[in-house]
Amino acid sequence: MPYTGRFAPSPTGPLHAGSLVAALASWLDARAHGGKWLVRIEDVDTPRCVPGVDQLILQQLARCGLVPDGQVLWQSTRHDAYQAALNHFMAQGWAYPCGCSRKDIEDAQAALGHARARHSAAVYPGTCRLGLNGKAPRAWRLNVQRVIDDLQLALPLAWHDRALGPQQQDVVQEVGDFVLRRADGLWAYQLAVVVDDGAQGITHIVRGADLTDNTARQIVLQHALGLPTPSYLHTPLVLGENGEKLSKQNGAQALQLHDPLVALNAAAHVLSLPHSGARLEEALAQWVNLYESSMTTPASLARYESTGTTDANR
Ligand code: GLU
Repeated sequence: MPYTGRFAPSPTGPLHAGSLVAALASWLDARAHGGKWLVRIEDVDTPRCVPGVDQLILQQLARCGLVPDGQVLWQSTRHDAYQAALNHFMAQGWAYPCGCSRKDIEDAQAALGHARARHSAAVYPGTCRLGLNGKAPRAWRLNVQRVIDDLQLALPLAWHDRALGPQQQDVVQEVGDFVLRRADGLWAYQLAVVVDDGAQGITHIVRGADLTDNTARQIVLQHALGLPTPSYLHTPLVLGENGEKLSKQNGAQALQLHDPLVALNAAAHVLSLPHSGARLEEALAQWVNLYESSMTTPASLARYESTGTTDANR
């Protein structure tokens, strides 16, 4: 399959120093492979999306010389494709409705004596797997064990990251039956991202290391939908004032793009690429040539050491 990569921002705020790293890395990776680079606006979580920010992000990317090689896809237009995926899971007996509130899940966890680690969502204890017991259906969940069994997938699920090396996760024990469609009717990130990566023929995913922990779940969904698993590379994060991934909440400023090379040089630095004093197009071309070795040498791994992965999507 010809290389197709993507950058998939959520339009919850303009690009900042952290998101530009993922944008630049995914663009460089596509160029270094002579491939196509697409942009997908991940606007499924509508309450968190800010009107107009999608266009702003596209303008910011263009100002940095990062122009998609095909039409931009908005996830808000993709309801039917996500519903078709859910219907497939229902038909296979792989999805079930869940009537639990967040509190129900926490109470069930506490009753099992499971403490909840900071940042990690509670592993769903499977309360509604065998039926709703009179509760009203709220969310739809994937019966992970059943998919693993029916498709004869091995646990822990193992995968390879081009920068981080071999990875594994026991999706049943460490994640549990995750949400496909949320109680508020919105599509879960996990489902939307896998359906769209498949539909867009994405062969290479390059994105921030905060998403590393989602990969095993996405690989399970790829198998469940009969989709190929792309190659993965997770890039180092830029940390905010509180030591967590840079975001609007912890001090990220929108990029100052009167001189895009300042912002691009900062992003290149995070990717262990040298400072460039050249003009925009030349700087990008220089980095394309140096990119592969900067990302995949053992020394580059030191950049991940302070990068804890967090997950708010479970
Ligand atoms: N939309 C996600 C985010 O902005 C990225 C999803 C992905 O690259 O898989 O964090």
